[in-house]
Amino acid sequence: AVVLERFSAWFGAAPALHNVDFAVRPRSVTALIGPSGSGKSTLLRAINRLNDELPGARHAGRLLLDGDNVYDPAVDVSELRQRVGMVFQRSNPFPRSVFDNVAYGPRLNTGAAGRALDDSVEDALRRAALWDEVKDRLRDNALTLSGGQQQRLCIARALANRPSLLLLDEPTSALDPQATQRIEELLYDLQQDLTIIIVTHNLHQAARVSRRTALLVDGVLVEDAATDLLFTRPADSRTEAFITGRF
Ligand code: ATP
Ligand code: MG
Repeated sequence: AVVLERFSAWFGAAPALHNVDFAVRPRSVTALIGPSGSGKSTLLRAINRLNDELPGARHAGRLLLDGDNVYDPAVDVSELRQRVGMVFQRSNPFPRSVFDNVAYGPRLNTGAAGRALDDSVEDALRRAALWDEVKDRLRDNALTLSGGQQQRLCIARALANRPSLLLLDEPTSALDPQATQRIEELLYDLQQDLTIIIVTHNLHQAARVSRRTALLVDGVLVEDAATDLLFTRPADSRTEAFITGRF
């Protein structure tokens, strides 16, 4: 699904990512962990070319999505961002209706309208496990939903574009345990037909939701392993230091 080959990224002199080789398994959840400033967000943002938008940002190496070189000059960036959904810690919904938030992508990309649009909105809300809670509130302003519902709405908004990859950057760190659990359960279901990378500060969460876990330290991918192995028998001393809180 996603392959990085000797991928480096810079914002200034020091690399934020350094010669990262990383292959993400399709249709599974991969957790990305590491200390603050280690490059986790930079790695996610590299995949849908969000770093490009910062003046002075540059990269080296290759990044492939389903076999396509993401940085090929011929790539259509808006099409790329439909294939790669992204949800942040606080992905604020637009201050529009619940319906309009989810309909935004399909309207723009496929010109869907009427019944077809209703169907794709319902489908995305169902996949985000939000339909039952909002089916009578589709015309309400999205900002009237709870924080956890807003976060699932942002996931639904991403899913409406039918992405093959979903990137989550600390999606639950602003949520209470119950709302967090809803999202963790959702990831379990979504990985049936979606590749997911989740950045999390919560090592218990990484252990709960992911099959593979990768650790970044100072822009270097230190270890990438089956999650149960990484947490029980880390191969790298830096992994052991990080998971035992000595960082
Ligand atoms: P956190 O856990 O705190 O979110 P992170 O692992 O996501 O950290 P990044 O945000 O990817 O870390 O940052 C990696 C490095 O790149 C840091 O040194 C950071 O200061 C730098 N960096 C990130 N974004 C920018 C930017 N827009 N301009 C300049 N430097 C940046
Ligand atoms: Mg970050």
